[in-house]
Amino acid sequence: MIIFGTKSTPSVINTGEFNCPNCHDKRNYTLKRYKKHFHIFFIPLIPMDNLGDSLECQKCSSSYVPGSILTRDEYSPENPLGNNNSANYLGIFPSAFGTRLGAYVLDLILIYLLIVAATFLTSGLLTIFIGFIYFVCCDFIFKGSSIGKLILKIKISEIKEDNLPTATNIIIRNVVKGICGLFPPIYLVALSNEKLQTLHDKISNTIVISK
Ligand SMILES: [Zn+2]
Repeated sequence: MIIFGTKSTPSVINTGEFNCPNCHDKRNYTLKRYKKHFHIFFIPLIPMDNLGDSLECQKCSSSYVPGSILTRDEYSPENPLGNNNSANYLGIFPSAFGTRLGAYVLDLILIYLLIVAATFLTSGLLTIFIGFIYFVCCDFIFKGSSIGKLILKIKISEIKEDNLPTATNIIIRNVVKGICGLFPPIYLVALSNEKLQTLHDKISNTIVISK
C-alpha cells in the first residue's frame, strides 16, 4: 500500500456554457485545474506543481485547452474564474491547505515553547487554553495572522471580502478551533470544500487567504 507520494488531483474551478466543437451544439463545460499534490493516505495535503487547466464538455467528455475556447474575459490562467463568477469568490482565493498546516505546526511549536517557558504542567486542556489565548492575541495584534501564518504569508479574512473579521468572529473562530483541537483530524474538513474552510472557518464566516 502506498502511504505517501505524489499524485495529480483535479479540482473544478468553474462551470459554464460553450459551443462544443465535437457536439456542434451548446453544452455545459467543467473547467478543471490539475495540480500535483503530495499525499498521505490518498489525502492531497501539499500542492506542488501546477499541471495546467482543462475544459471538458459535460456531454461528450472531450477535453479542450481553455484559452482556445473561452474569451480572455471568461478565462485567463492568472484569473481562471473569469470576471463573471465574482458573486461566488469576489476575487478571493483560499490559501493552500498545506500552507495552513505548515503555519499551524509552526504555531504549535511556539505554543509548546511558551508552555515550557511558563513552566506549567502540560495537559491537553491547558495546551488548548494557552493556544486559545495565543491565537486570539495574535489575530488582534497581527491583523488576522498568527506568527506561523505571518511567516508563511497567509491570514484570515472575511469570506465576502478581503477584510479583517470582526472581533466577535475572531473570538468565535478561536473557541471552535480550540474545541476542534481536542480532536485534530476534524481540521481535515477543509479538504471537503473548494474554499478549504475548516469547521472554525465555516462557523465564523472566515477564510484563510494569501497576503
Ligand atoms: Zn461535447
